Amino acid sequence: MEKSEELKIIHEKWFQACKCELKITAKQPVPGNGNPESKIVFIGEAPGKSEDEQGVPFVGAAGKFLAEMLEKIGLKREEIYITNIVKYRPPNNRDPLPEEKDACRQWLHEELNFIKPKLIVFLGRHSMNDFFPAEKISAVHGKLLIKKFANIDTKYFLALYHPAAALYNGGMRETLLDDFKKIPKILEKIQKDTETIK
Ligand code: URA
Repeated sequence: MEKSEELKIIHEKWFQACKCELKITAKQPVPGNGNPESKIVFIGEAPGKSEDEQGVPFVGAAGKFLAEMLEKIGLKREEIYITNIVKYRPPNNRDPLPEEKDACRQWLHEELNFIKPKLIVFLGRHSMNDFFPAEKISAVHGKLLIKKFANIDTKYFLALYHPAAALYNGGMRETLLDDFKKIPKILEKIQKDTETIK
């Protein structure tokens, strides 16, 4: 079976199994989307209005900005995989609650361990804090974090500012663009490190 078919089955299982209460108010689930063979997975926070309407992550203004940044480093959106911590839109785009993140976590971990990317990129502090609760994004953005979690196969992580927060904030936008441009070198380093270990 194709990897994309297998991933579709995983998502369909979670459409039923996920107990997140946001299901009540959201129009539909927004599963991860893109290339299941990707070396990079981007993780955002939660779907917004456009994502809730289309059932696809990062299709609104933040998603357009993300696609522009990807192009600047020679990647197309279809080549990478994008998902969110929480798979249903919180009402009025409020921050997801801890219990909503808990309810969606096994789904996220299953998609990550199915794809097994070399690098996981957090889009924003909510996404980063789900894995690194003690870190501050202002301190670690753009730096490679290496950690072996018991339940995650990938051990290389990079935190970036959220494209929606940076979109209209000049300074943050520049920082995000600079951090984004580090991705190809970081991937090269990971490739070299993993080859040396083998
Ligand atoms: N912001 C997110 O964090 N995720 C989306 O899917 C869209 C906007």
